[in-house]
Amino acid sequence: MEMNLMSMKDSIISLSQKNRNNKFLKNNIELRCKCGFSEKLTYYDFLAGGEFNFGQPSSILSPFISESVYDETIIVTPINLSKKCPVCGKDLTAVFPLSLEELIPILQSQPPDPQMYG
Ligand SMILES: [Zn+2]
Repeated sequence: MEMNLMSMKDSIISLSQKNRNNKFLKNNIELRCKCGFSEKLTYYDFLAGGEFNFGQPSSILSPFISESVYDETIIVTPINLSKKCPVCGKDLTAVFPLSLEELIPILQSQPPDPQMYG
């Protein structure tokens, strides 16, 4: 199964923008560069700004194995944050703490906004 990651990226950007008050998105991630520059950005800054890419999806054993299901695997797609260092121009990267599959339900779990699909 091939997922369209380009449109998935667009979805995450727009879901993040709609969830700007989501507490989860206010967590910080710190980027450090070898040149000494460091910057704290919120998840919101990265996700709503589109400063991320997807890594190679891999399958892991599902943590939700039930009695009737053995060996069930789920796909996990890592999210890599990236931004250019404003001082030296090198790429700064960090791995987002959640996978794409974990992030989407969080962004979609907000109270329904009547204008969301309007
Ligand atoms: Zn730098």
